[in-house]
Amino acid sequence: MEQFNKYLISVDKDLNVISCESAFLKYIGRAKIGNLDMVVPPQDMIQLRNAVFAINPGELGLSCFRIRTSFGKLNWIAANVEKSDGQDESIHMELSDIQSMKADGALAQYDEMTGLLNKQAITDFARGLTAQYPRKPFYFCLMDIDHFKTVNDTFGHMCGDEVIIDVAHIIRDSVAADGLVGRIGGDEFMLVLEKVDKKPRAREVLAKIREAVEAKYQNFRDSISITVSIGAAFYPDYASDYDELFNLADKMLYLAKTKGRNRYIIYTPEVHGDVNAEIKVAAVSHHAAAENDKVHLMLDYMERFLHKPDVPIQAAIEAVLSAYDLDELHIFFDGMKESKYGVVRTELAKDNYSINLKRISMPILETEEFQRLFDKNNVAVISVYDLNKENEGNVQRYMEVEKYRYMVVYRMAQAKQKGYIVYLNHWESACRLSEADIGDLTYFGRMVELTSRDR
Ligand code: GH3
Ligand code: MG
Repeated sequence: MEQFNKYLISVDKDLNVISCESAFLKYIGRAKIGNLDMVVPPQDMIQLRNAVFAINPGELGLSCFRIRTSFGKLNWIAANVEKSDGQDESIHMELSDIQSMKADGALAQYDEMTGLLNKQAITDFARGLTAQYPRKPFYFCLMDIDHFKTVNDTFGHMCGDEVIIDVAHIIRDSVAADGLVGRIGGDEFMLVLEKVDKKPRAREVLAKIREAVEAKYQNFRDSISITVSIGAAFYPDYASDYDELFNLADKMLYLAKTKGRNRYIIYTPEVHGDVNAEIKVAAVSHHAAAENDKVHLMLDYMERFLHKPDVPIQAAIEAVLSAYDLDELHIFFDGMKESKYGVVRTELAKDNYSINLKRISMPILETEEFQRLFDKNNVAVISVYDLNKENEGNVQRYMEVEKYRYMVVYRMAQAKQKGYIVYLNHWESACRLSEADIGDLTYFGRMVELTSRDR
């Protein structure tokens, strides 16, 4: 059984209809049709012309536009477009009425006004991506039209609607094959740049949207300027689940608004700090010590290490493991194949952990490729996503196989007994060590190093 209405039509390069099924004429309530512009609104015609123009002969393309139906309603159409590669330059289209798909319940996922995904559909899509394992990196963005109420108040709701539709088209065209776009509120949109995992490309897409909207409305009526603000965040480096990702993008959108609108802001921890702190503390309060506790812990150990170098290391690394929300911590001394001290945290139930002893070997540590990752302070901070396949491929593979997502390694290079302290987080954990945390862990490493003579 057909789930939604489909119509086959052929047009020439100027979009004059050469032939169509009688069902299509019935659908548009006309006895005959000349050019498609008789039923497709002007702004959508531009869209359609561009889409058709971009398709190479012999290839298939997809376009979305609205058609005025026999009921006088504008219905959204998804069209498969094929340009024949023969002499006649005819173009064949298979039109699917998205509204009828909705009516049949086959695909109730589009926003009626813009043809973009609706809130439920785009949210499900983004959530689905964050639930994948291994984690797939992508950019997530929230966008809002600036001072949109003024457009409504000055020119009326109808004009406001047209602006929303046109902006929606701009976003969809700019994102194109890089991801999916949905409308999640009156003048709010969600962009899931599924195919974008590099910042320069994310910037390119967002800049294009910002510029295109600004340009389109530069000489708008009464010189009202219509612009957009965008907040964006990268998954999974700075957010461990969908809620955190949304929160980051939302905070960046808020920042873009307060900084004067007409801009995009991509979350950067060095610039914006630990934006997720509130929800992070709420979510992991059972096993993450408050910042204050960390400071006390470090000061306490500093004193103990300096005055009595016989601090029980095993107890110390257990305390550090839970205070800094790590999954594993290992200490290797020179020439040792296995870690001398090691702990791993295992989740028993939600927010309930046990800490166990564990010895591991890490042959990768001594490789030249790994050694290049240390900075001048003998610290290497490594996120599996930041590694470069060409130069750091072995480290990347090692981390993937062992399911380590993030590590901070301190190289004890100055003491008599050389070695490494390795702080680790697994794939599925929330890895959010701040600069301050990394500083503390380096410090802890240095203390162990200084007092390591007799260990
Ligand atoms: P800001 O720059 O802070 O975003 O200012 P703003 O005026 O755009 O404020 P806000 O985003 O909060 O306002 C969105 C407005 O969009 C409020 C509502 O009246 C209007 N709106 C919501 N849905 C629709 C719609 O479908 N059509 C039209 N025309 N307006 C809508
Ligand atoms: Mg707005």
